[in-house]
Amino acid sequence: MTYRVSLIPGDGIGPEVTRAAQLVAEATGVGFDWDVVEAGEPAIRKEGTPLPESVLDSIRRNRLCLKGPITTPIGSGFRSVNVALRQQLELYASVRPARAIAGEGTRFPETDLIVVREATEGLYSGVEHWVDRDHSAAESVAVVTRKACDRVIRFAFELARRERRKHVTGVHKANIMKTTGGLFQTAFGAMAANYPEIAADERLIDNMCMQLAKKPSEYDVIVTTNLFGDILSDLCAGLAGGLGVAPGALFGDTIAAFEPVHGSAPKYAGQDRADPVAEILCVEMLLRHVGEREAADRVFRAVWETIAEKKVVTYDLALPGYTARPVPPSSCSAMAKEIARRVPLVDLAAPLPRPRGAGAAAADPQLET
Ligand code: NAD
Repeated sequence: MTYRVSLIPGDGIGPEVTRAAQLVAEATGVGFDWDVVEAGEPAIRKEGTPLPESVLDSIRRNRLCLKGPITTPIGSGFRSVNVALRQQLELYASVRPARAIAGEGTRFPETDLIVVREATEGLYSGVEHWVDRDHSAAESVAVVTRKACDRVIRFAFELARRERRKHVTGVHKANIMKTTGGLFQTAFGAMAANYPEIAADERLIDNMCMQLAKKPSEYDVIVTTNLFGDILSDLCAGLAGGLGVAPGALFGDTIAAFEPVHGSAPKYAGQDRADPVAEILCVEMLLRHVGEREAADRVFRAVWETIAEKKVVTYDLALPGYTARPVPPSSCSAMAKEIARRVPLVDLAAPLPRPRGAGAAAADPQLET
């Protein structure tokens, strides 16, 4: 079977990491027919708009999308293409697993949690304006609807049930934001009652951040509103090994789009230095979504083995300051080639190679550091 997938290379490091992900996807032997469409900077240059209608049409047609990061101007300029894409395609559940890989780059090698972020409304609704003419006061409106709360919270509980996860935490700030936070809290409580086999509890966002920084392994699935989810998923990526290894997916009722948690990292653009793993693990998520389980397992294991062996890894997994066991850094393309080379060779029945990084050493004093 061949899968037709809309491919948005994006900008900044996007083209490099999506090329890497394509290489690994093709190494699985699964057929891919890439429908390449441009959004962001390249689309502005060619078509005068950052999100041409043809991009949305391609994704609606193919229902599968692999996406690189897209730059959003800060403080002014066009609205985020990423946000527009989620809103226009009703990709309401942003799923961001934070899973430590081979104990590398993390003090918490046991981290394995999933952040589910509402992706269509909240403070990302784009309802904001200056209050006065000299721009000395501004207002932003957080739009929260029961419909959007219900569907993302249901998604989180269904995900927990499917993946045999035991615990869902709803995160909000209902003590201060009595209406928007209160609505999310009420929806969470009502939905949790439908899933008696899954433990459910709530945290205020500030307390959640502190709890995660101290003991991430106590959390399993976290569901929250748009802005809190954005912040928490970067925090969790950091706990699990960094933005370079954090994949993500966006789900609507019929469309699934896969994009890393990280952005376009402009300072590394065009240098072949960025870590391709986050985008490669997006391919793993895509393969699982379409039911290609063995291919997905092969991609995950090839990534794990490459990081555990630590001969061909990018700077963020190689250099002092990022790891307790520094090695010479490799390029993005070299790491992708190494992962792709391993994909057909990995033994899925063998135990995963033992972690050898700093976090792993903390967990098991027998391990090499
Ligand atoms: P960023 O994620 O692009 O980069 C932050 C830092 O993380 C980088 O400087 C780098 O040190 C590290 N990093 C990120 N990806 C990496 C990788 N693959 N390998 C190694 N290191 C990596 O965040 P930012 O600098 O805040 O944002 C840059 C641009 O990206 C902004 O325009 C922002 O709006 C956009 N953005 C887009 C998306 C998206 O497309 N979904 C997501 C987040 C940010």
